[in-house]
Amino acid sequence: AYARLASIFGPSAQIARISADDFCILLPFDGKGLVAEDYALKAIDLLSAPFQLEEGEIRLEPSIGIALLPRDASDVETAHRVAGLALRAAKDRNGAQYDFFSPPLNERVQMEMLTETLLRTALKTRQLTLHYQPQVCPANGQLVGLEALIRWPSEKRQFIPPSEFIPVAEKTGLILELGQFVLDEACKQAAHWRREGFEFGQVSVNVSPIQFRRGNFANIVRQTLSAYDLPAHLVCLEVTENVFLDTGEQLILDILSELQTIGVQMSLDDFGSGYSSLSYLHRLPFQELKIDRAFLSGADQHPQKARLFKGIVGLGRSLGLRIIAEGAETAGEYALAAAHNCDGLQGFFCTPAIPADEVASRLAAFHRSLDEAAGNCLGEGERKLRA
Ligand code: C2E
Ligand code: CA
Ligand code: CA
Repeated sequence: AYARLASIFGPSAQIARISADDFCILLPFDGKGLVAEDYALKAIDLLSAPFQLEEGEIRLEPSIGIALLPRDASDVETAHRVAGLALRAAKDRNGAQYDFFSPPLNERVQMEMLTETLLRTALKTRQLTLHYQPQVCPANGQLVGLEALIRWPSEKRQFIPPSEFIPVAEKTGLILELGQFVLDEACKQAAHWRREGFEFGQVSVNVSPIQFRRGNFANIVRQTLSAYDLPAHLVCLEVTENVFLDTGEQLILDILSELQTIGVQMSLDDFGSGYSSLSYLHRLPFQELKIDRAFLSGADQHPQKARLFKGIVGLGRSLGLRIIAEGAETAGEYALAAAHNCDGLQGFFCTPAIPADEVASRLAAFHRSLDEAAGNCLGEGERKLRA
């Protein structure tokens, strides 16, 4: 592999093999970087071609990080560091890839490394907490479930949004520890509510594909349930369609069927937002479909969107799935989801995620607001009748 690279980049390049598939290359800067780009493409092609060895054929899935000198670094140490950063960026993409070092890349990677360090500490010192967002039945406003959402309190902002640190956690493997924390906390809370006689329906926990694919995931679930003496059907695990990327369907099916045996509910999250291959839907043992917020958002104002939403509800319904509509923000969106008989609605119109001990009072306030709205409608009706 080294020889193949050397043949492309020539004697002025310094090539370092970091691991079997990973290379860092230092190249002289030609003023534009165009030649280097051309070389990089060739290098990926060459390295991706199978190698014939005596024992048989092997294939690499190469990643190459490239730094151009002296533009990107003026000393050896910096040059190796920035080429390493470029390699890290290249590895973030799927398949055979290369990347060049650049200042924005530097900033991004620095930011990620900082996040990783802080997150590690936050996990250790138990700074992370869970908030819960109610899902209510549109027919009567009753609680049918709660989604546990992770919250990382911050001094500068109220919370660091999960969208900023979950991807970092997934990249660094910290998601395993984080996911375990979330599952544990949510089960503990659910067991507490159950003892208190608070009927919450089910508690939903987000599971990252990385957690899900780990061989012992079902066992972890089993152990956590038994630690809190919690009946499995009170827990729902939410996975997105991303679990199907990079993972063989048979493996997914095996994990799902083991979870099925345990008796937890399974929900397909953000449905319709990404890689929605409808072909798998009927084969997989899910009980619930969560329709991505994008479909409900503004659908009460746009008839075409409303039809699409209705169609997705119908699709899920015909497969016998419980339907949760996400992201109802306005009375109009809530009414639309209610009109299509979704089993549950989750959205700011009811409430954003809140600490566990505020759930009961927030729901009571929501019910009062529904009653008032109904009262107003009645009032209007009566006024019309009298007029
Ligand atoms: P998600 O699973 O789709 O969670 C729903 C997100 O939508 C939450 O954002 C929630 O606050 C937000 N949301 C709910 N109702 C509304 C609404 O009416 N309008 C709008 N605009 N947004 C609404 P959050 O808490 O920031 O979480 C973002 C994502 O982070 C989640 O998306 C989930 O993918 C991930 N996440 C959160 N907690 C965890 C966790 O414990 N584990 C894992 N693996 N991922 C998590
Ligand atoms: Ca979710
Ligand atoms: Ca979602």
